[in-house]
Amino acid sequence: MTDAVRSIPVAIVGGGPVGLMLALFLDQYGVRSVVFNSEPEVRRHPKGSTHNSRTMEHHRRLGIAPQVRNLSLPINRPTDVSYHTSLTGWELGRIPMPSEADKRRAVTSSAATDQTPEPLLRANQMYVEAFLLEHARTRPNITIRFGWQVTGLQEDADGVTVDAESEGGRESWRAQYLAGCDGGRSFVRRALALRYSGFASLESPHYGGRQNATYFRAPTLYRDHLAHRPGWNYWVVHPKGRCTILSLNNDEEFLAFSKAPDDGTPPSDEAAIATSVRAVGAELPIKIIGHWPWTAGVALVADRFATHRVVLAGDAVHLFTPTGGFGMNTGMDDASNLSWKLAALIQGWGGPGLLASYEIERKPIAHRNTTAARELNKQLASMPDVTAVDEDTPAGEATRREVSAHLAGMTEEYASLGVQLGARYDGSPIIAEDGAPPADNYEHYIPSGVPGGRAPHYWPGQGRGIGDSLFDRFGKGFTLIRLGGKAADTGTIEAAAHRNHVPLKTIELAAADARDLYGRDLALIRPDQHVAWRGNAPPADPDRLIERLIGAA
Ligand SMILES: Cc1cc2nc3c(=O)[nH]c(=O)nc-3n(C[C@H](O)[C@H](O)[C@H](O)COP(=O)(O)OP(=O)(O)OC[C@H]3O[C@@H](n4cnc5c(N)ncnc54)[C@H](O)[C@@H]3O)c2cc1C
Repeated sequence: MTDAVRSIPVAIVGGGPVGLMLALFLDQYGVRSVVFNSEPEVRRHPKGSTHNSRTMEHHRRLGIAPQVRNLSLPINRPTDVSYHTSLTGWELGRIPMPSEADKRRAVTSSAATDQTPEPLLRANQMYVEAFLLEHARTRPNITIRFGWQVTGLQEDADGVTVDAESEGGRESWRAQYLAGCDGGRSFVRRALALRYSGFASLESPHYGGRQNATYFRAPTLYRDHLAHRPGWNYWVVHPKGRCTILSLNNDEEFLAFSKAPDDGTPPSDEAAIATSVRAVGAELPIKIIGHWPWTAGVALVADRFATHRVVLAGDAVHLFTPTGGFGMNTGMDDASNLSWKLAALIQGWGGPGLLASYEIERKPIAHRNTTAARELNKQLASMPDVTAVDEDTPAGEATRREVSAHLAGMTEEYASLGVQLGARYDGSPIIAEDGAPPADNYEHYIPSGVPGGRAPHYWPGQGRGIGDSLFDRFGKGFTLIRLGGKAADTGTIEAAAHRNHVPLKTIELAAADARDLYGRDLALIRPDQHVAWRGNAPPADPDRLIERLIGAA
């Protein structure tokens, strides 16, 4: 039965991590939304475990970073990545990586100009999604409609009418904006007849084509084979096939990535158990919990990210190969970019060009990040011939040396700070550019005050915890920073923001090294923490500047 049409500023289709993040940002800006999700609960199947620094900074903005960090692998466990011929065979290489406790200690003793207050977190997406949903249920501006599938949408000049169905009935909603965060098979993308382009796969015997993520229970695996070399990610490189085993939050459940049958169907439980037993190199009890198919080498980006009233984010507009762990993280940054623009439009201070800037800014990032992931995938796929890798012969030893040397070059997969923090919106019509940005670098992040990039981080006081980062001092709207203890006038920009109804907070950052970081005496930061403008004095026409930054020029 259909009730009366309900009204809401934003309807979000899809309650995966990106849809939930968008709802949480909108809630923080005081904007109401409804989140529809086909399944009644978040999916209890693990995916990736990489919540990168930028995603953790977003969680920090929402005040939930400590709770999300508590979902990490056991806090004192190193998050090493190691490579083996089998878990009982030769170790081919190891990338030592810190435990969550080590990372927290490092942050509390870091330099004032430390690049981020939030180191990357290893926690499986399955646990974090469940927390995001639980948290969203407590927020006053979010209506949760899990167990509701969106089946229709009609866009017109003033908004979108959305039809949704559940086992219990049907509902129609009228929204000013609709956000399609409904994943790779996006109903919203297909309803708008938008297409993906790019690469649908990478064909390689070692790391290409259809893959399977098997969730399994093996109560003795950690105790008997991993406890003496605790880590997060165990790669098994074997002539009979690759298998990667990921630790989850308890020592009895694991996730294994391995080649799937070519027709894309999941392997039988017997075949999946045989793959894991071969990877371990010993018989052990294994019970399969479930399978999740995926494709190595995918790098697809939609041709449009928005129409007039409908916007898309996350996997609905970009599909990644998981190498590097960039997929969800890129979607979370979409939500950060999109949410303040939707809030500005709904609250009446966003200009007519603001929404168009979402696609202009985020589509190049989707291309950049999918390309980075595919490059890493190609490096993995170019593994030397491993036929002899498990042999106790001179040929086997030579193969192991060759494979180890190849793997030694793979550290970027796990340390790509440039991808994580280096997204820039150069060329955007709502950025007041003033100089050459640093060269893009996937591995290293180069802090820069040149408008377009994420605001460089700084620790302003003696503390190094929640509440002590420069980012914690930013307002929910724009933030004007007066740097280096100079007397630069902030009044004319504040007055122009006020006249244009733009929320603005002014803060002081007196330290000389903070002034060096930003390169000017004044910097104007957007709600999504990207530098919008900087100068040593206010511009001659501050109203014109503000209008430009909100898409009204
Ligand atoms: C093996 C693997 C490992 C990965 N590792 C990582 C990693 O370490 N780091 C990382 O950043 N990314 C990783 N990813 C990618 C990451 O899982 C995805 O990018 C992420 O889940 C995308 O989030 P989303 O919210 O955009 O879409 P989804 O998670 O797909 O959520 C979309 C939601 O929309 C719902 N939905 C769909 N249609 C409708 C409809 N019509 N009505 C209502 N609801 C609907 C679905 O039920 C679903 O819940 C990995 C992916 C895989 C497969």
